[in-house]
Amino acid sequence: MRTYLPILLLLGACAPTAQLTLSPSGDWLSRAAPLTSVPDEYRQWWDSLGVACKCEAKTPFESIAFYRVPGAYFHFPTRRELSRAIYLEGPDIVIADHWLLDRRVVEHELLHARLHSEQHSPLFRQLGLLSY
Ligand SMILES: [Zn+2]
Repeated sequence: MRTYLPILLLLGACAPTAQLTLSPSGDWLSRAAPLTSVPDEYRQWWDSLGVACKCEAKTPFESIAFYRVPGAYFHFPTRRELSRAIYLEGPDIVIADHWLLDRRVVEHELLHARLHSEQHSPLFRQLGLLSY
């Protein structure tokens, strides 16, 4: 689903506003931008997460496209609640600026990427990454 986010970004730029008025920050798609410099911590957290979960990465770290959204939360169109970050099976990870260096938030999304799944397997709870 590598093309999913760019398509959403495109839709976000020209979609009917009714689709994007679900929250005050519903226009996040048009404000999302590629993370031009991936923090070194992400790679370290990716590696330590691999040790902790004993799970083989189904996605290479280098294949993940990171995006940032201004602010602390954004509304993803298919979710009812506001999001700090989201994983899409691109693999794409979108993170609100406020949480860019929050280890638990980023590790949660990295675990999605390792498992190449948007689902929450029991591993999330075992690693303390389900509720933060
Ligand atoms: Zn999740």
